[in-house]
Amino acid sequence: MAYWPSVVTATPAHSGIGASLSYRSALWLAPGTLVRVPLGAREVLGVVWDCPAQPPEGLSEAQTRPVASVLDLPALNASWRQLVAFAGRYYQRGAGEVALAALPPQLRELDTTQLARRLKRQAKAANAPPSGDPAPCAAPEGPALSTEQAQVLAALQSAAAPALLFGATGSGKTEVYLRATRQVLDQPGTGGLPTQALVMVPEINLTPQLEARFRERFEPQFGAGAVVCLHSGMTPAQRLASWLAAHTGQARIVLGTRMAVFASLPGLRLIVVDEEHDPSYKSQDGARYSARDLAVYRAKVETDALAALPNAAAAPRCQVLLGSATPSLESWHAADQGRYLRLDMPGRMGGGSLPRLRLVDMNHQPKGAVLAPPLVAAMEERIARGEQCLVLLNRRGYAPVLACHACGWKSGCPHCSAYRVFHKLDRTLRCHHCGFTERVPRACPDCGNLDIAPVGRGTEQVEEQLAGLLADARRPDGSPARVARMDADSTRLKGSLEVQLAALHSGEVDVLVGTQMIAKGHDFRRITLVASVNADSALFASDHRAPERLFALLMQAAGRAGRDAGQSAASEMWVQTWYPQHPLFARLKLYDFPGFAAEQLAEREAATMPPFGFQALLRADARTQAAAQAFLNAAAEQGIGLPGHEDITLYPAVPLTIQRVANVERAQLLVESHSRAALQRFLAAWQPVLLACRALPEARGLVRFAVDVDPLLV
Ligand code: ADP
Ligand code: ZN
Ligand code: ZN
Repeated sequence: MAYWPSVVTATPAHSGIGASLSYRSALWLAPGTLVRVPLGAREVLGVVWDCPAQPPEGLSEAQTRPVASVLDLPALNASWRQLVAFAGRYYQRGAGEVALAALPPQLRELDTTQLARRLKRQAKAANAPPSGDPAPCAAPEGPALSTEQAQVLAALQSAAAPALLFGATGSGKTEVYLRATRQVLDQPGTGGLPTQALVMVPEINLTPQLEARFRERFEPQFGAGAVVCLHSGMTPAQRLASWLAAHTGQARIVLGTRMAVFASLPGLRLIVVDEEHDPSYKSQDGARYSARDLAVYRAKVETDALAALPNAAAAPRCQVLLGSATPSLESWHAADQGRYLRLDMPGRMGGGSLPRLRLVDMNHQPKGAVLAPPLVAAMEERIARGEQCLVLLNRRGYAPVLACHACGWKSGCPHCSAYRVFHKLDRTLRCHHCGFTERVPRACPDCGNLDIAPVGRGTEQVEEQLAGLLADARRPDGSPARVARMDADSTRLKGSLEVQLAALHSGEVDVLVGTQMIAKGHDFRRITLVASVNADSALFASDHRAPERLFALLMQAAGRAGRDAGQSAASEMWVQTWYPQHPLFARLKLYDFPGFAAEQLAEREAATMPPFGFQALLRADARTQAAAQAFLNAAAEQGIGLPGHEDITLYPAVPLTIQRVANVERAQLLVESHSRAALQRFLAAWQPVLLACRALPEARGLVRFAVDVDPLLV
């Protein structure tokens, strides 16, 4: 008797190799079994997808090579395989590429004996009694729940749809995650496997307190190995250990970043996506998946699998809980439609209120002032009282728009509801939606003013000026104020983030200046003033998600101030802007996210933008801009007539805002449809066309291409 397992390996869709390869095996191998198979001259890790007793058509026994070895691990279950297969299909990559990228890299290197040793060591550690305490003790209860928290948890227990927890910053969402986790961990498992929970956060380094809270809450009851982390900052050995613990059911809780959505969790009953609106849930390379969207899909697959179990009369569910103070418009819209269940927690824990918003009209400030004098004075006052300030700089990566400060003209596109982007290199204004391009006008087309300028300023400039302006500020003890900067550069070294946070907590630092990094998650106690000094470019960015992100960022930043109820009444959020009349600020003043979301959704609906329309980008990198665009335009031309084509719009190729990176020219082409299904149909049919287009003479110099489904930045 022989079998012909089909095995997926890490061959990208681009290589043109089909979805799976056939091998030979004397034994039947369960789907999901991890194997090592020969591929060319190498031996690679693979996952068995299917194991028929007949050779595939057209292949004889002599033509197939035998499986080299079988890893002694439980098979990856059907739900996991379904998740991976879906992600591969939906994001236009190979299932094998997604599957292998989802496995810990070290699994590829260890041979069967090394792996066996690793597993044995891990099992031993897990069975060791917690130090000094042989019996697991009762679970710490945590604080008494607020009424809002109790209501949310009750609703969650009977929820049959994905839940969207709309909770203000400081409303106690983390406590809800902890209690929801407890609820599922206390349930009996099925098939001899304990129940498990997956908790995802945008960036684990920014929330060191979260891991501590989960360990504190669950380790006394479930043992030292109950909580594991999964993120890219871990060593390969750590990642493998966490992955194995989750896969074998030793770990009950996985805390991780977007990659954790692919963790093997055979007892999965709950997926939490904290700060679900955060862009870092969208992968920007390889399979450009959205971990939030896959979490929703995965919960459904797991629930269906549980419902299909024999004698699962009161079948348990796998619940997905998306949490945010400023949900993504996609999730908000889903809740509007009743597809998600919205759970509200508007109150801040301890009754503190959000800071009072103060808009500074930069039109009335001294010419050239980067920081308005009243803001500097307010900061000096806070410093003198021993309070702390947070100064938020514009997030990186916004392409500036050109604007006339005299009449308010902005470089809009006559054909789209979008602003054209200022391309410095060739001094043009380009629309990234329709491609409409003009040279930068010499003067304002509306009023003739010669002083038209990109909106927004460089971050270094602001930092420099701030240190100078606060040179005379004094702390209560008469010593000079201390200004510190925190951003990706200042925290690059391992441990430096912790040191900087400690300096702020201990009161060594009076003013913290930084990018959006400082707005996230930290529980600062003595901050009473938060200032956003150059956020304007986001108001008019060509990217239609920019206002949504700005609102989220400012709400989050506001949440950093006045976390002590005693101080919250006097705390303030300052926003410098040239456009105080912008409707976004009217909503922000009231911290009215629902109102803001309703306005944004109405605009999106009118323009058939997501979530009312669906998008994909075809991106090309090439030696020349011409080659990149030629490839894209040829691909578009050959897409005519493909299935789904009648329901989609293909736009002309345009250069990326940052057109040239590392000597590679980048261009993209937008694909839009009113129907997700039609877009998917078209993309699937387009894939082989794209592969063929690489060989076209006009595409010479093409380096690579990629499809980005549901792109965040268009
Ligand atoms: P969020 O994640 O919604 O911003 P947190 O979970 O950080 O809010 O909660 C804010 C603060 O309130 C934290 O210091 C937390 O320990 C505290 N907290 C949360 N729930 C309760 C509760 N039920 N009783 C007392 N304090 C609580
Ligand atoms: Zn003008
Ligand atoms: Zn346009």
